Amino acid sequence: MKAIQIQQYGPASELALEETAIPSISSEQILVAVKAAGVNPIDTYIRSGTNNYTTTFPHTPGLDGSGEVVEVGENVNGFHVGQRVYFSRNLSGSAAEFAVCIPTHTFPLADALGFEEGACLGIPYTTAHRALLGRANAKTDEKVLVHGATGAVGIAVIQLAKALGMNVVATAGTPEGRALLEQQGIHTVLDHTQADHLTPYQSLEQGFDVIIEMLANHNLDQDLKALAFGGRVAVVGNRGTVEINPRDLMARDAAVMGVALANIKPAELDLIAKSLYPLLNGGLLKPVVRKVYSLDAISQAHEDVMKSGAQGNLVIKIN
Ligand code: NAP
Repeated sequence: MKAIQIQQYGPASELALEETAIPSISSEQILVAVKAAGVNPIDTYIRSGTNNYTTTFPHTPGLDGSGEVVEVGENVNGFHVGQRVYFSRNLSGSAAEFAVCIPTHTFPLADALGFEEGACLGIPYTTAHRALLGRANAKTDEKVLVHGATGAVGIAVIQLAKALGMNVVATAGTPEGRALLEQQGIHTVLDHTQADHLTPYQSLEQGFDVIIEMLANHNLDQDLKALAFGGRVAVVGNRGTVEINPRDLMARDAAVMGVALANIKPAELDLIAKSLYPLLNGGLLKPVVRKVYSLDAISQAHEDVMKSGAQGNLVIKIN
């Protein structure tokens, strides 16, 4: 089969298209013919060995993907050959024609979605659900700031928050990103490149009940000043350190919580997939596929996913 491989931690330019054997599965696993692979920032961290991520070599990148089940291990229940699925983790890498998947991280793909959209679900929508509901415990009618809403996770959060009747404010870093958020039905879009963009919200009366934060090292200090009483910040993304004043938390009985998808347990994953399914099938949640790459253009996708100016998900189409 065709698969992307890298032989050691390194830059995106070292990702190469190779001919490899189709992987075999154990009795506990599922073999999926991958139709599309999602490209997420974590794929670049694993490829380059940064942010404490490690892997073995040769390494085929890609945690997220979608496709059709071609083989089901004899101890696996609930899946059948030919079934359309998406996955949020796999054992062999989704940038390949086949991927070894695990039942706990593989889910039925809603009929309303194509495979390219399905490849955007695993990490982004699961993280969005866990951050907004599992960690920040956001409720209908609460005021939610999605701080960094133009990327894969941010769009998933705004769609979910709107579907659940929350009052959503969102930020972008470019005019194109702001236009995208307006198309997504967000009436108040802020520019996170402006140092004072949160100033109008930095009082108990105007503050947010929940902030879903994509770049905490830039924003956490200002976020805490923009919380309502009892407000919560869920940290999804962070690329450095930040100084805060804990008095901002004390004054509001506020809380900051971390979110790491890697910590999720199978039962929670199952619940999230089951609650996303009708929203995806009903069109309330719909991934924004910004760009589709061929398998041999994956290096460019790994470069692009780390650039500013996000406008949705990046996907690799597997023929
Ligand atoms: P992405 O598609 O690359 O999007 C990155 C987002 O960050 C964009 O919306 C971007 O906006 C925004 N951003 C850039 N500068 C910002 C700033 N100063 N303030 C606020 N937002 C800013 O990435 P993603 O897949 O959505 O993931 C977002 C982050 O969460 C990444 O760091 C990723 O590694 C992390 N993540 C964590 C988990 C977890 O389990 N904790 C899971 C998935 C992802 P513009 O481009 O418009 O400036």
